Amino acid sequence: MLVAPAPADGLIPNVPIADGCRHQIAEPPQLSRPPTLPRVSGPDANEFDVAVIGGGIAGAAAAWALAPHLRVVVLEAESGLSYHTTGRSAAVLTESYEAEPIRALTGRSRSILTTEFAGMSGLLTKRGVLWIVSIGQDAAVERALAAARESPVTVDLLDPGTAQTLCPVLRRELCLAALHEPGAMAIDVDLLQREYLRRARSHGAAVRTNARVTGIRHDDQWYLATNDMTVRCTHVVNAAGAWADEVAIMAGLRPIGLTPLRRTAFLFPAPGGGGHESWPCTIGIDEDWYFEPYGPLMLGSNADEHPDVPRDVRAEDIDVAEAIEKISTITTLSIRRVLKQWAGLRTFAADRLPVVGPDRTEPTFHWYAGLGGFGIMTSPALGRVLADRVLTRPDPAEPTSATWATESRGMYNDR
Ligand SMILES: Cc1cc2nc3c(=O)[nH]c(=O)nc-3n(C[C@H](O)[C@H](O)[C@H](O)COP(=O)(O)OP(=O)(O)OC[C@H]3O[C@@H](n4cnc5c(N)ncnc54)[C@H](O)[C@@H]3O)c2cc1C
Repeated sequence: MLVAPAPADGLIPNVPIADGCRHQIAEPPQLSRPPTLPRVSGPDANEFDVAVIGGGIAGAAAAWALAPHLRVVVLEAESGLSYHTTGRSAAVLTESYEAEPIRALTGRSRSILTTEFAGMSGLLTKRGVLWIVSIGQDAAVERALAAARESPVTVDLLDPGTAQTLCPVLRRELCLAALHEPGAMAIDVDLLQREYLRRARSHGAAVRTNARVTGIRHDDQWYLATNDMTVRCTHVVNAAGAWADEVAIMAGLRPIGLTPLRRTAFLFPAPGGGGHESWPCTIGIDEDWYFEPYGPLMLGSNADEHPDVPRDVRAEDIDVAEAIEKISTITTLSIRRVLKQWAGLRTFAADRLPVVGPDRTEPTFHWYAGLGGFGIMTSPALGRVLADRVLTRPDPAEPTSATWATESRGMYNDR
């Protein structure tokens, strides 16, 4: 959903992606084992306890949590580790977003970030989130009030005038009420991802880019083939984002039924006069538009969710135009120039809850996927949950006793 501090320009390079990753899962999965791969030979640098497929925020968090205990390798298809969704998001950490298990995971993540990552300057900065109920959305006020009451963190109900003091460009005459979560933070995603991997490497983890896994075989161990090596390991972590179902099929396992939903974002000049840096991330109560400061610029989105397929997705002009229209209606902002636009795939399970834990039929194959619009802000807690599952080797037939996971049908969603 939300986006925060400006990544370096060019964070979304035009790296081509192999055709093998472009197709949609249209046919029923092939559950037969893939062909035999070459054996790893000799005393070998390609033998690990765990291979993590995917080097986005999920793969990085998994490596961070696992590396103190096991020999870990991260295999990333692209030349850059944040080429796909992770590099297209940046993030706000908000505990007033999505369903209760997500809020709880975000709360746990916040505790980890503010203790174990406390020394990192710039990792978290104050942002605040302002949810706007527009005129005509009367029913939303009740919902907003209920959400505020149930929230484990402070969420204040504001009148339009008070909301306007926080976000001066808001047209108060079009605003019925607002909810304010003052404690919401912006996360420097790039910094967090690099720190996860720095800590993982300090425990001996290997990180390999340009290492697309193209074949998987399993007997007593796993064999993962990339273009120039075969990795042998005991456990596989599937952190392949929008491609997680394809990776499962490659491993001869059933897909979850994940859906990548495309979301658009664009940058535009901040209004003159300064001060925009302190505005909150301001969002329609139905999450149908949002805007927020982005360094010296502003970022906007129509918060779109177009079903898509795993691919190197691009923004469509019509979505940018729609966002501009919505933001221009509810504010006095006059958006005349789009400086940059992009889209990313937010990938969801059917219940929009994360899928983290061992596969039902193969306990050494671990999912860390379905992270939707919350994968950054939940990564410290979910990285730990994933590591606990790997280390304790739970019986996959028994749902875990961890509170979040019993609530989260996403764990074993639709399989
Ligand atoms: C516009 C936008 C705004 C967002 N705002 C927020 C927010 O405010 N807060 C928040 O918490 N989240 C937000 N998100 C969501 C967040 O970005 C995602 O949940 C998160 O980045 C998902 O991380 P990931 O590691 O699962 O996926 P990815 O970053 O896509 O990583 C998966 C990786 O797996 C690799 N891969 C795939 N197949 C293979 C293979 N066969 N072999 C090797 N590697 C492979 C891919 O190359 C890719 O790098 C936002 C997303 C978008 C698009």
